[in-house]
Amino acid sequence: MSEDKRNNQQARLAALYEVSSQLGTSLDLSEVLNQVMDAIIQLTGAERGFLMLFGSISGKLQTMAARNMDQETIDGHSMPISRTVIERAAATGEGILTNNAQEDERFSSQQSVVGYQLRSIMCAPLRARGRTIGAVYVDNRLFAGVFQQEDLDLLSAFANQAAIAIENARLFTQTDQALERRVQELSLFQNIDQQLNKSLDLNRVLSLALDWAVAYTNADGGSIGLMEQDEERHPPVLRLLAHKQYNHVNINDVVPASHPVLAQILATGQSVFTQHVTSAQAINGVPTTIQFAVPIKRERDEIIGLITLEANQLNTLDAEDKAFVERLADRAAVAIKNSSLYEEIHAANKAKSDFISIVTHELRLPMTSIKGYTDLLASGMTGELTDQQKQFLDVIRRNLGRMNTLISDLSDINRIESGRMTFENKDFFLQDVIEDVRNSLQEAIDGRQQTLTVKMPEGATAVHADPTRINQVLANLVSNAHKYTPDGGHIAILVDQESAHIRVSVADNGYGITAEDQSKLFTQFFRAEAREVRAQPGWGLGLSIVKKIVEAQNGEITFRSEPGKGSMFTFTIPLAQTNK
Ligand code: ADP
Repeated sequence: MSEDKRNNQQARLAALYEVSSQLGTSLDLSEVLNQVMDAIIQLTGAERGFLMLFGSISGKLQTMAARNMDQETIDGHSMPISRTVIERAAATGEGILTNNAQEDERFSSQQSVVGYQLRSIMCAPLRARGRTIGAVYVDNRLFAGVFQQEDLDLLSAFANQAAIAIENARLFTQTDQALERRVQELSLFQNIDQQLNKSLDLNRVLSLALDWAVAYTNADGGSIGLMEQDEERHPPVLRLLAHKQYNHVNINDVVPASHPVLAQILATGQSVFTQHVTSAQAINGVPTTIQFAVPIKRERDEIIGLITLEANQLNTLDAEDKAFVERLADRAAVAIKNSSLYEEIHAANKAKSDFISIVTHELRLPMTSIKGYTDLLASGMTGELTDQQKQFLDVIRRNLGRMNTLISDLSDINRIESGRMTFENKDFFLQDVIEDVRNSLQEAIDGRQQTLTVKMPEGATAVHADPTRINQVLANLVSNAHKYTPDGGHIAILVDQESAHIRVSVADNGYGITAEDQSKLFTQFFRAEAREVRAQPGWGLGLSIVKKIVEAQNGEITFRSEPGKGSMFTFTIPLAQTNK
């Protein structure tokens, strides 16, 4: 190799190294294409050039970058030779060099070549990962006349590296776009979930889900419905409960399970996409261009409803839209389940509450009259009673008392649960309430030879609460201490102050509560199994009411208990303003 040639070669390699080192610094496709195009012009010294890539969807060659050629020239029909050459390079994967295109037999069939001043043309395929992704083209050497084979070798060497850089940027853009779409979708779903779960109103959940489905897919309309199975075990039907820009559909319209599309979905559990929808296929019975019906499924693939979208144009609703609606249906299923459960519970609660209201009201009336007549008989005003008659009347009165407690406990619970319990809070002296409670229970306490002591700070203790309710709480706790302490036992009411609260404790040295039972305390109808407990009258409602009353007045209730030793229940009451 001559000195000149070697120098030349070295200069080329240096140039190749220099331009190649620029590649790979960016993952932005258009930036990479520009770098490549600049490098090609710099390397080859060409007057102009352009680069084409096979489109990822169309599979056709598209011009992606050009130098010294305007877009119109490239896109138009004014460059038959250039296009033929580059198409050939891209198709064959072989480099092309010609210095007289007009006379080159490969291109001479192009009649229009005559008249173009194309002297020298060079073209190299862009090959990455074993496949040709496009080609680069340059023509008319500016200074040094025609292109040589070395020039093509140089261009080809560079094209190989350029192709990889382009492919990397293209892949990156694709994954980047896919990722971005996924991130967008996730944040959209987060938003949807929030909205769906915020609402426990079934109709709202249904319309929200439908709104999202229609808006995201650009469908022209849609409907959403739930499957219904009546008790007489007729085949299920789909009841349409909401629609959006969906003509000819009325809320509460019913679609039978035998409807061909619905039947297919019920049988396969899969969405059904239909084009050129006939009236028999349309969920709403009206022909349309596209219909996409997606089942809403609960656990174990049970189909509970259907989202149907319709569009007037064939290319609406792509694969991505379909996947979106299917994912949306899964989320809607959860919200639908929650809201229908809520509605069922709400309805059941309301029914229970109404029932208790009626029963307690209806029972009070006859009980008042029974009590009146019993008291009258017991007073002896209607005639002298034998001892046995008196004894029987006592039994009647005791049982009336029990029924009365049950009725007032039940109506208290009803009031608390429906938020209808009222509190007339005011400042009052705790001593007065303690005194009332002691008076009302003293006889029963004495009856079992128990003692009741009260220990409280010197002076009057003013608290702020509803005195009647505090009386109820204290009476309940003292009554429990009395009931669940053996004869001769001791009960104490202890009062002390703690920052802004007064603490009231009721202690006894009675039966105590086992660790297992302690965890069930305060739940409605809970009573310990022990014989001595069951021997006492009670319904297991008192403590649950006490807890709710204390908490409604900004207090709290706690307890300590040891089986065989006794129990202590403590609740707090806010201090009166003047005491603080
Ligand atoms: P009731 O007294 O009508 O059974 P409560 O709700 O007041 O209903 O009490 C529930 C259960 O808690 C009682 O049945 C009893 O088993 C237990 N209990 C409550 N207070 C005491 C206490 N001071 N000592 C022992 N057990 C108690």
